[in-house]
Amino acid sequence: MGLHHWLTERVLLTAFDTLQRRGIRAAHGEACAWQWLPADELRKRQWERLAGLLREAYEDVPFYRRRWDEAGVHPGRIEIEDDLLRIPVLTKSDLVSHCRETISRRYDERELQRWTSGGSTGQTVVFYVDRRTAGSRKAREMRFHEWMGVRPGDRVARLWGSPIEIAQHRRWWRRATERLKNRLLLPAQVLTDDTMAAYAELLTRFRPALIIGFTPALFLFSRFLDRNRITTIRPKAVLTTSATLYPAHRRLHEKVFACRVFDEYGSREGGGIAHECDHHPGALHVAAESVFLEVVKDGRHAAPGEVGEILLTDLTNHAAPMIRYRIMDTASWWPEPCPCGRGLPLLCVASGRVSDLLVTPSGGLVLGEFFVELFDDVGEDVLQFQVVQREVGSLLVKIVPAPSFGEAAEAFLRRGIAAKFGDGTTVVFERCATIPPAPSGKYIVTRCEVPLDFENASGLLDPAQPG
Ligand SMILES: [Zn+2]
Repeated sequence: MGLHHWLTERVLLTAFDTLQRRGIRAAHGEACAWQWLPADELRKRQWERLAGLLREAYEDVPFYRRRWDEAGVHPGRIEIEDDLLRIPVLTKSDLVSHCRETISRRYDERELQRWTSGGSTGQTVVFYVDRRTAGSRKAREMRFHEWMGVRPGDRVARLWGSPIEIAQHRRWWRRATERLKNRLLLPAQVLTDDTMAAYAELLTRFRPALIIGFTPALFLFSRFLDRNRITTIRPKAVLTTSATLYPAHRRLHEKVFACRVFDEYGSREGGGIAHECDHHPGALHVAAESVFLEVVKDGRHAAPGEVGEILLTDLTNHAAPMIRYRIMDTASWWPEPCPCGRGLPLLCVASGRVSDLLVTPSGGLVLGEFFVELFDDVGEDVLQFQVVQREVGSLLVKIVPAPSFGEAAEAFLRRGIAAKFGDGTTVVFERCATIPPAPSGKYIVTRCEVPLDFENASGLLDPAQPG
């Protein structure tokens, strides 16, 4: 064991875990043990965990007590899986309106972490988690890294689009601990050729064992490396997350990085929910020790292979339970067991994209996350937004304004857009009462109707070909 691995695995991890009381080591040990349980034993234990959570939620959480009483549901009468269908679904709007009411009476709000979904689906959601939930998320991440052959202390680079992590990274202590943990964060809301050339040099020097890429950003970067014949970045594995990974893009990553690609399905609300193992069966293993997923179609549980909407129950969060949460994604259960031997169920996520790349008059491409960050800065003045581009040089910005939205916020948004797209871009604001979701149920943040030329990238703009 090298010095840095020893320092990270034995000293830093133990120190952080003890200080932060997140129970990472215990959660990691459990996650590693549960993954090899036979599927039926896993299901039995998962059900016991779920039943306990439902009882607690009914006893101690005002929101669920009221909602379930109104629906005539009592946790004592939830005995088989189909009984769950009687429990009302939790929506994003419920969390927006009632997030504090979802806090259990057993917990003090001041001890909880208040998280937001960052508006990545065009609608900001607030929810609370306790330390144990945060620890469980970390443990799942560690197990996934092990599947890829990556150990604690190995160098990890992230090409990241989420404004939340990037904002945290601006704090000096966060950067210092990241460095201590051998991590490098490369912000990727906007990737120009100059930025990508600089990132290629940084990564060549940094020699990461793992590159974690926000899926659309990693595609732009891989395409840049391919075009410029840069072959000096050789990680053990590449991890894609946050959006649909198309087969053509997976092949491109495998070519430019000369390693295997592992996909993750996760969300801000649920953490890492499902992960691809080293047998790459075409579906992802659900972290069944931590989450309970249902796939529902027409008011019933979908059969294996049948696509339905995902309802997420976080089994780790007792402080502010999230039960049957409509996460706005669709998926199907994979009908076969995985050759790897893990009993964790396999999920095939079918959801489409939530953001398109937009194009500037000079031909640059802008990720949808640029707008997520921009709108984050006007905070609660905007309830929902969507940016539509029908031609180069103009943007239609649809917003559902809060009463507080005024000229100052609009001027701020115009300045931000002009700085990125140039003064020559016409920006039209349209105030709406609602912005309906796409047929998939997802809220689309940016939609590009300009035909773009994506060399080696079949499928990027074609939602009919998710992979
Ligand atoms: Zn497997």
